Amino acid sequence: MKSAHSAPPACEARIQVRDLRKSFTLHTIDGRTVSSLHGIDLDVHAGEHVGLAGPSGAGKSSLLRCVYRTYLPDSGSVFLRRDGDAEPVELTALPDREMARLRGRELGYVSQFLAAPPRTGPMEVVAASARRRGLDRSEARDAAAESLRRLRLEEALWDVDCSVLSGGERQRVNLAAGTVSPPRLLLLDEPVSALDPANREVALELVDSLAHSGVAVLAVFHDLDALRRLASRVVLLADGRIARQGTPSEILQEAA
Ligand code: ATP
Repeated sequence: MKSAHSAPPACEARIQVRDLRKSFTLHTIDGRTVSSLHGIDLDVHAGEHVGLAGPSGAGKSSLLRCVYRTYLPDSGSVFLRRDGDAEPVELTALPDREMARLRGRELGYVSQFLAAPPRTGPMEVVAASARRRGLDRSEARDAAAESLRRLRLEEALWDVDCSVLSGGERQRVNLAAGTVSPPRLLLLDEPVSALDPANREVALELVDSLAHSGVAVLAVFHDLDALRRLASRVVLLADGRIARQGTPSEILQEAA
């Protein structure tokens, strides 16, 4: 059950995560509880790229999903501050419809896998994402075309059913949908794992340019080279807690 929320901390971060806790009850096994987050406090500012590192099972994906609210945390808060808002919005307390609207408009979430509705092509998927960000139909198609072109998805594939695309092509569609008409907060969970070196480079440059233009990025890259190049700060998770944080060279050197 979700508990009471704390007041927003007095700081101007794009997102502020406070004492976030998440556990799962394994009903289909023996009813035992697995904890994935044990009280996470984390700020990500506009223009900052925070890389999440840590061993498998440390809680990296759970944290991204709690921020995006595909997982509802047991307790704690996630505040999102939009430009011009007097007060940040507390995401864990929003009604589902408002959360869905705000998610479409303000948040981009890119996982390893594209979840496209059946019989839809890349153009339709990416334009739909741009529409949710507030663009009208024709602006959305233009923005989608620009995004797909930037990620070098061949134009001949733009109307082909996504289910027949290769893993790398699907990942580029996913990235295009997550970054089109850029959101304020970009959540990335292994977004380039299926890309060949040339396309990976294009995708990393895109993510980097978004952070430089003011998007707040919270990302998981198992690829340490990407983490080293893109992250302004690395947060090392262990057993659902923040073990350490610092510059990529500080944290990755210690981890090695
Ligand atoms: P990886 O690097 O392997 O992707 P991670 O650091 O992203 O790992 P999480 O996927 O967040 O780790 O998982 C943290 C813990 O929470 C793990 O013990 C995992 O089994 C558990 N967990 C995550 N999602 C669920 C779920 N939907 N149901 C049950 N347990 C879950």
